[in-house]
Amino acid sequence: MKDLTSSQFNYRLSIPEPESHLLEVELAIANWQDEFIDLKMPVWTPGSYLVREYAKHLQDFEAANETGQPLSWQKISKNHWQIKCGSNNSIIKIRYRIFCNELTVRTNHIDRTHAFLTGAAVFMYVPEYQQQAYTVEIGEIKENWQIATPLPKVANTEDNLFYAKDFDTLVDSPFEIGIHNRYEFTVQDKPHSFVVWGEHNADMQRIVKDTAELVAVEAEMFGGLPYDRYDFILHASNGFGGLEHKNSTVLLYNRLGFRKEESYLQFMNLVAHEFFHTWNVKRIRPKALEKFDYDQENYTSSLWFSEGTTSYYDQIFPLRAGLYDATHYLKLVSKAITRLQTTFGRNVQSLYESSFDTWIKLYRPDPNTHNNQISYYLKGEMVSMLLDLLIRVKTNNLRSLDRVMQIMWERFGKDEIGFSEAELHEVIETVAGFDLSTFWNDYLYGNKELDYNYYLEPFGVELRTSRQDIPFMGLSLKSKNGIPEVEKVEFGSPAQKAGISTGDMVIAIAGIRVTAENFNDRLRDFAAGDAIAVTIFQQDLLRTVEVTLQEPICNQFELVQIAKASPNQELNLRLWLSI
Ligand SMILES: [Zn+2]
Repeated sequence: MKDLTSSQFNYRLSIPEPESHLLEVELAIANWQDEFIDLKMPVWTPGSYLVREYAKHLQDFEAANETGQPLSWQKISKNHWQIKCGSNNSIIKIRYRIFCNELTVRTNHIDRTHAFLTGAAVFMYVPEYQQQAYTVEIGEIKENWQIATPLPKVANTEDNLFYAKDFDTLVDSPFEIGIHNRYEFTVQDKPHSFVVWGEHNADMQRIVKDTAELVAVEAEMFGGLPYDRYDFILHASNGFGGLEHKNSTVLLYNRLGFRKEESYLQFMNLVAHEFFHTWNVKRIRPKALEKFDYDQENYTSSLWFSEGTTSYYDQIFPLRAGLYDATHYLKLVSKAITRLQTTFGRNVQSLYESSFDTWIKLYRPDPNTHNNQISYYLKGEMVSMLLDLLIRVKTNNLRSLDRVMQIMWERFGKDEIGFSEAELHEVIETVAGFDLSTFWNDYLYGNKELDYNYYLEPFGVELRTSRQDIPFMGLSLKSKNGIPEVEKVEFGSPAQKAGISTGDMVIAIAGIRVTAENFNDRLRDFAAGDAIAVTIFQQDLLRTVEVTLQEPICNQFELVQIAKASPNQELNLRLWLSI
């Protein structure tokens, strides 16, 4: 509960007709003295690095003074409204409506069962007044709807009136309003809850128990929980995603994805990931994200750490919390290595570039993405693992990547001071006890192949590779209306050299019809070096091209524990994987 100190910016949100997907927003600004008000709508939300143009869903904008007289306004840019106020207005009222029908963790969704509201996609701001307090009143909603938000209520009120100390806090506080179930639990004397919207097949008792374990092990590493309470908002629907906030997270997961053990554990990886962001990226922030600029892209090269290291820990913490064993963990890493090592883009884009260009690349995949990009989540996870292994070996297990996180928390996170890339490197090198410039050059700035076995050998773990017995053509197909369509073409592959492109329809190989399903099996009838006739429709033209198949490529990677590990290797492994 917070005391209401006369807030100048007061929002009121109403949803009189949820079936229309429209949210009605009223912003009352008190004691406005200036002749103009410049109001802006954020173009992106922290945690999801893409300009989403939230203003495109805004309609019916109007402004009036205290007597209800309309005020004139004009648009200055796509997300900027300027209102002419006259002078000395005791109150200015701005009204607009937002169409909300996109169910993701970073957009708005309203239907007859709920309203999920993302701060950046709802609230406008006056740039010079972002440090001011805001209140949000929830007005007309359906009678049986409940309100969940990490924002505290204004003290001494029964009304649905909430308080945000500044605009960042407002943006960081989602609203889940509607029919949902709430599951409360306590960790380190602090209240936590799962707020679940949507029908599902989850065992919520198990989720709550496992989440409490995860919260406890993550808190242990950082020496406590940096909030008063925390909400996990779960949308059980169709899809996958998570968005971190300072004392809440929004999760989207397949409503029937909880029964199968592997899928359940993947959900717990998501929980561990978003919760780790409580520290890494929500408080330990790269300099470019120290103060958010909601008006444009905020460029940083450090997402390999903010997201990649978080991805490394999202698999480590469930292991430490006892949710799965080391065998399962090594399987997860094997899968990640397979994804990385079968993505050609790892030879083209560095981790640094991947982070910096996220605004135009990672969130905008296209058919060529795998040829010229690498995800900073995926490679960042692997680089973080190698750093952890390296630090452990070089310090005789006295220190690990945990120590890096603890120092980053103490030095930058606690007071929310942005870190520079150089400061991050310095912290890691201090913990490791030696210069890592070659490591940075090879793996962050450059595209050198990660030398997994060099780093894994002291732990008695080996990366083994194998290849399928399918000669390599270099394309993958999907079925479109029963016809196989080329989804991806590998750079430099026989398929590309023969002129086959994304979107082509593959009709036959050597005169016999193929389908998306039997295509790979059909290739087994040939050998590397064979030149085969592939019949395609390309831009509606029927063509037959000759493709010379190559040797099968390595496409399966597996981490295995070596048979006769030395006592030292066994010790290292035990300490790394908590076994
Ligand atoms: Zn993340």
